[in-house]
Amino acid sequence: MYDVVIMGSGPAGLCAAIYAKRAGLKAVTLEKSPMSGGQVLNTYEVDNYPGLPGINGFDMGMKFREHADKLGCEFLNDSVLSVTPIQKDTELVRAASSNTVDGAGEGAGSNAGFVIETEGGVLHTKTVVAAMGASHAKLGIPGEEELSGMGVSYCATCDGAFFRGRTTAVIGGGDVAVEDAIFLARGCEKVYLIHRRDELRAAKILQEELLSLPNVEVIWDTVVERINGEDQVESISVKNKKTGEEAQIAVDGVFVAVGILPQSEIMADVTACDEKGYLIAGEDCACTTPGIFAAGDIRTKKLRQIITAAADGANAITSVQEYLIEAKNK
Ligand code: NAP
Repeated sequence: MYDVVIMGSGPAGLCAAIYAKRAGLKAVTLEKSPMSGGQVLNTYEVDNYPGLPGINGFDMGMKFREHADKLGCEFLNDSVLSVTPIQKDTELVRAASSNTVDGAGEGAGSNAGFVIETEGGVLHTKTVVAAMGASHAKLGIPGEEELSGMGVSYCATCDGAFFRGRTTAVIGGGDVAVEDAIFLARGCEKVYLIHRRDELRAAKILQEELLSLPNVEVIWDTVVERINGEDQVESISVKNKKTGEEAQIAVDGVFVAVGILPQSEIMADVTACDEKGYLIAGEDCACTTPGIFAAGDIRTKKLRQIITAAADGANAITSVQEYLIEAKNK
């Protein structure tokens, strides 16, 4: 029986792993992908994390993981299939609690811990930290799925090099879209940033950098209606929302950066989510189901950044500790 199973190894999960280890908890961090770091791995440059100005996202992910490894945190490369609360007085509880280190899990909150089914087996834990982050949202337009991997990409730092000296379009107006356009402009001949409004959502400092680049053209108030091409992206069909004017723009690559979706499917039946699928939890990261904590981009929150994800990891483990103490004293 673990004290805590941390699901996900982005900044939130890795920070939770570090705090759990330092707190002396029996913890394991499950990671689906072979590399820790989450979304940060695909970020070219991070310039808003104190002490690490301009650090490459990949290096940052590696640094977080190295820190966890140095402390001896336990990791398991495995995908979670389901999380099931164990109700008190079931056979499962009796079996699970016989392995409990100090008995704190038995009777904790309104349940007696959780069974986590993974592709590789089954784990028992007193608490869960859900830190699975978010994945890329899709446009849902014709050509997007068909040409995915054939010029349509969701990661400029992963695929940008294929478009050196060529023309690309980035779709979106948030931090990711603007960062992607800046990154692509370093190697592409021309980059279009296509945004559905007349104002960008991205940080001011990024907007200023973007607008200073000679090979970037921002196309305002415009939506992409179709991505065209046979075996490879050839053009996009766009429409100006204000004038209704339609046009076709020749591009070799399309980078979709229209936001993120929480990876919360496996939690939907276990704890409450908001209408977008984010796990409902406050600053203490406590979800509506006792014993479940949400950290990072998967949680309902105002600001989704690396630093707030890392802070969630710390807060979640502090809440886990309080929960375990309370359960023990019951
Ligand atoms: P985001 O901030 O939600 O921006 C998504 C953008 O896509 C918005 O401009 C939105 O337009 C546009 N959009 C959404 N659906 C669309 C559609 N169907 N068609 C066309 N455009 C569409 O998402 P993000 O840029 O992926 O960033 C995700 C989170 O990570 C944010 O909280 C962001 O601040 C954070 N982040 C932080 C950093 C950093 O701190 N350095 C870096 C990257 C990301 P509207 O503006 O009209 O809504």
